Amino acid sequence: MSATKAIRTKCLDCCLGSKNEVKLCASERICALHPLRLGKPVEGMSRLKVIREYCLGCSEGTSKAVSECEFTDCPLYAYRLGKNPNRKLKLTDEQRKDRANRLREATTKRTPVKRYLAEQTQEAIASAAYAKEST
Ligand code: SF4
Ligand code: SF4
Repeated sequence: MSATKAIRTKCLDCCLGSKNEVKLCASERICALHPLRLGKPVEGMSRLKVIREYCLGCSEGTSKAVSECEFTDCPLYAYRLGKNPNRKLKLTDEQRKDRANRLREATTKRTPVKRYLAEQTQEAIASAAYAKEST
C-alpha cells in the first residue's frame, strides 16, 4: 500500500468508511493527516512526515512508543518510522561507489552562482592586495 493510500485508508477507518465524512472532516487544526485525507498529493507536503507526525501524536509524542507500536493492522503502521518501506534498493558495491562518485561530482560542481561568487572573491582579494601595495 502506498503512503497516500495508507492515509486515505486511515481516514476512512476514522470515519467508519464514509467518504463524505472524510471530506467534511473539520479536524484541520488537530489532525496531521487532514491536508492529505482525500488521497491526493499536496505540493511541498511530505506524506512520510505527515504520517510520522500523526503517529507521534497517537503515541504520546515519543519515538520509542511509535517504534514499539503493536497495532500492525493500522494502515499507517509500515510508514510510522518516517521511512518508505517500499524503497529498498539492492545495490552492489560497484553501484554504491558509482552513486557516491556521482553525488560527490554533483555537489562539488560549480554552478553559475558558485562561479560568480568565486570570481567576486578573487576580485576582492586582488583589489585588497592592490590597495595594500599602493599604501
Ligand atoms: S484527517 Fe484525521 S480526523 Fe480527519 S478523517 Fe482523517 S484521521 Fe480522521
Ligand atoms: S501505526 Fe501505531 S502509532 Fe501510528 S497511527 Fe497507527 S496505531 Fe498509532
